[in-house]
Amino acid sequence: MKLTVVGCSGSYPTPGNPGSCYVIEQDGFRLVLDLGNGSLGPLQDVLDPESGDGSFAVLLSHCHVDHCADVAPLYVMRHYGPARQAVRLPLIGPSDVAARISAIYGMTDPADLDLVFDVRSFEPGAMAVGPFTIQVARAVHPVEAYSIRVSAGGRSITYSGDTGPNAALATLAAGTDIALFEASFVGDANPVDLHMTGADAGRAATAADAGLLLLTHLVTWNDDDVVLREASAEFSGPIERARPGMTITV
Ligand SMILES: [Zn+2]
Repeated sequence: MKLTVVGCSGSYPTPGNPGSCYVIEQDGFRLVLDLGNGSLGPLQDVLDPESGDGSFAVLLSHCHVDHCADVAPLYVMRHYGPARQAVRLPLIGPSDVAARISAIYGMTDPADLDLVFDVRSFEPGAMAVGPFTIQVARAVHPVEAYSIRVSAGGRSITYSGDTGPNAALATLAAGTDIALFEASFVGDANPVDLHMTGADAGRAATAADAGLLLLTHLVTWNDDDVVLREASAEFSGPIERARPGMTITV
């Protein structure tokens, strides 16, 4: 599997770093994990979002705008753009995807989303999407949100999405090759059930016995080095900070 970081900025886009968006590729099929604000542009450096060849699908961890907003311009691209795809694109996420995306777009009828997307909700257990097996666990966040494990060819990448610390994340990520975990906060003066600190991410990676901790969703107002130090105090394996354009193959 090849992981490409399209955008990983915490909570809002910054110059050169859109909201959350990751692409995982296996056997020519691409899974787009989140499509946060600003990500549709640089996503086009990785794949053709207008393509109707059935070679990709979109998964949304939750419907905060920094994780889902660019589904709205993707609707425009595929419905009105020159390629005008008749093929509906799989769009899989929480149960509120249609309501939330149609509200961002300003649709009068959420059913119009069905013109472009095959909207589905996450299911318990394992889901097959292209060559991937998808498993999810409910995250701890103010809206319906999920952590997502993507497996193929005996390897796996587990994406925390946005979540406060919780035991289900480590269970979902058990033995994963890459723990793509958010670390939005530092220290201990954090709101409950919202985000993780570097230390929280490190503890979860240790509990999961992850191969690599890839810290993401770092916010601009914190010092990245502090987040990395906090994580390394809790996880003895390799740690990297996600950066836009970064690729890792496992
Ligand atoms: Zn969120």
